[in-house]
Amino acid sequence: MPITANNPDRKTWIKTTTTTDFPIQNIPFGVFLTRDDIITIGTRIGNTAIDLGALHQLGYFEGIPLTDDIFLQDSLNDFISDGKKTWRLVRNRIAEIFDVEHKTLQNNEAHCKIVLFGLDEIEMQLPVTVGDYTDFFSSKEHAANLGKLYRGEEKALLPNWLHMPVGYHGRSSSIVPSGIPVHRPQGQKFINGATTPIFGPSRVVDFELEMAFITTDANHFGEPIPIEEAEDYIFGLVLFNDWSARDIQQWEYAPLGPFLGKNFASTVSPWIVTLDALEPYRVASPKPETQQFPYLQYEGDKTFDIHLEVAIEPENSVSTVVSKSNFKYLYWNMAQQLAHHTSNGCPVNSGDMMGSGAISGPTPDSYGCMMELSWNGEKPVQLKEGGSRKFIDDNDTVIMKGYCKKNGVRIGFGEVSTKLLPVFKK
Ligand code: CA
Repeated sequence: MPITANNPDRKTWIKTTTTTDFPIQNIPFGVFLTRDDIITIGTRIGNTAIDLGALHQLGYFEGIPLTDDIFLQDSLNDFISDGKKTWRLVRNRIAEIFDVEHKTLQNNEAHCKIVLFGLDEIEMQLPVTVGDYTDFFSSKEHAANLGKLYRGEEKALLPNWLHMPVGYHGRSSSIVPSGIPVHRPQGQKFINGATTPIFGPSRVVDFELEMAFITTDANHFGEPIPIEEAEDYIFGLVLFNDWSARDIQQWEYAPLGPFLGKNFASTVSPWIVTLDALEPYRVASPKPETQQFPYLQYEGDKTFDIHLEVAIEPENSVSTVVSKSNFKYLYWNMAQQLAHHTSNGCPVNSGDMMGSGAISGPTPDSYGCMMELSWNGEKPVQLKEGGSRKFIDDNDTVIMKGYCKKNGVRIGFGEVSTKLLPVFKK
């Protein structure tokens, strides 16, 4: 079935600008509370949010097999479970409804009043109920830089790294949408030169510039997903800030891996941009440097040219962009990650979230976390209005953005913006 929603020539009757992340070719999916305190699934064109629950009730999705309440939900999980064919039919229909040549809704003022909202009239929620969250470590530059900092140049990459997309199971309960502040965590750490660990506020809170993909029900218990089918089970992507407390992480990680230094917060952009919308921006992943197992071998372009940036905005100051990276730098792509995740038969469900790991590029201005950008504090990052950062200070806001651009069409993710509050006090 063709993705007619991606037609680059299509114009919409909704007011937009050329610089918007959300032209009619995007049609992302999210969940929001309306001014009447009703929760609904929606999409967005320009700065207009569209209530898909109301559109469906008014009959605009006639002919597409959807249950009556599919959009009147507090999460996208059931819609995502309907599968790729349905996602595509719905996106194509939304594109038609809002096409400038299409008059039905455009000329119906009463219906427009019901389905269209300004962004100041809604409150974005987490788009899915995340059953399971897995975090990968798929950037070679990031893995090598952290390795150099922890173990030295010689042992930068661990022996397994080039053979598999390394990952761990994270915690879904602390995934929150953009705009919800996060407290500096407390925990155990071991200061160099000390003889015993101490407990207290983390001194080195970091962001990780990641993207996460969201899956549909993919496989039965015990059944691996072949790599050539993996992308059929990926609904879309969000920006993902995987907050990390480096001192807690460093003391606790042996032998079972990341725990409290990583699970206090991860923040996501609220609009899921579908894999279908990203189709025009496919590019090749980096070439494998070693022979990979057959279950990880793929054909074609399996990644996307997504420009990414991170800014730090201190309280009452201006923001400074501290990193510019790109999703395409990831050594392991999403199809490989999902094939690897299920290679042992582990089932994946609708709404599961898979983080990429910090996305670092080849140059020091493209690193995906402060640990690398400041080289563990050796090279503080300068801010525009003076001052510098080795890691994130209390009351700093970290803002991540991402977009694709080709042939005059820009598809963006909006932003994930999170303020770091001081340690929680009752
Ligand atoms: Ca991470």
